Amino acid sequence: MIESARDSCHRFIFDDSGIRGQIVSLSSSVKIALEHKNYPAPLSSLLGQAMTAAALLADTIKMEGSLILQVQGDGPAHTLVAQATDDGDLRGMIHYTEGVIEGNDFRGLVGDGKLVLTIDASGSERYQGVVAIEGGSLAEAIEFYFDQSEQLPTRVWLSSSGQRAGGIMLQKIPGENEERFRWDHLVALTHTVTDTELIELDPVDLIQRLYHQESVTIYQPVMLRFRCGCSRGKIESVLLQLGQSEIEQIAENSGEVSVECEFCNQKYDFDAVDISALFRATTAVPELRQ
Ligand SMILES: [Zn+2]
Repeated sequence: MIESARDSCHRFIFDDSGIRGQIVSLSSSVKIALEHKNYPAPLSSLLGQAMTAAALLADTIKMEGSLILQVQGDGPAHTLVAQATDDGDLRGMIHYTEGVIEGNDFRGLVGDGKLVLTIDASGSERYQGVVAIEGGSLAEAIEFYFDQSEQLPTRVWLSSSGQRAGGIMLQKIPGENEERFRWDHLVALTHTVTDTELIELDPVDLIQRLYHQESVTIYQPVMLRFRCGCSRGKIESVLLQLGQSEIEQIAENSGEVSVECEFCNQKYDFDAVDISALFRATTAVPELRQ
């Protein structure tokens, strides 16, 4: 019996085929991400889709680490970031220009620019793939990424109501035989899914409903949650990169240096004593400053 729950990612595979899929259903993780910022409605929906996409993509990486999906464009929502780790931590945020967010049109929101996928796996080099933003939705932009940089047939369906989100990804398994007919058939079946079904339905029920005539194995889910990986130590290393004179200048002007995490609103304060201790510690260990 397969467990079924909100805030989860189930992997599934079509038996006797080289085609796999993932289904993600999000509720409280999106809600928590949205509580941290007062986003206009179209951006709440976009953030839910981006977090869903990051969770779908992270499940395809068979290693410890995290996947970061970034969309950087010249539209009013100019930076979109969603991150998912292999053990189910999710976070996301959007930088946008206040007062100019209108409509739900993806390209109207993000404009032209680039989509970047970064895989940060522990113990190996950071991998980054970059393509231009193409298509009329985030799902299409991700499909274009796989078409261009991985040349791996991939289809993505994303939906979000703001408080809830869901998505499905189908992908050919690398190295498996081409089964054009089967692929087209499964894409056509998945294409019948409605936004409401993606958002509202139990994920296992939805898989069974969509593929009831197929032989499909569904795996136990990875449970997902909003969790931000920020820490005082990580903020300290950012301050060190900015350099002592710049940080001391900020502290002099405002009395202290206060940094707020853009994902979870956690505040990190550094007073003059903290700052001098921070730079004194690294002066004693010069290799940390490289
Ligand atoms: Zn944080």
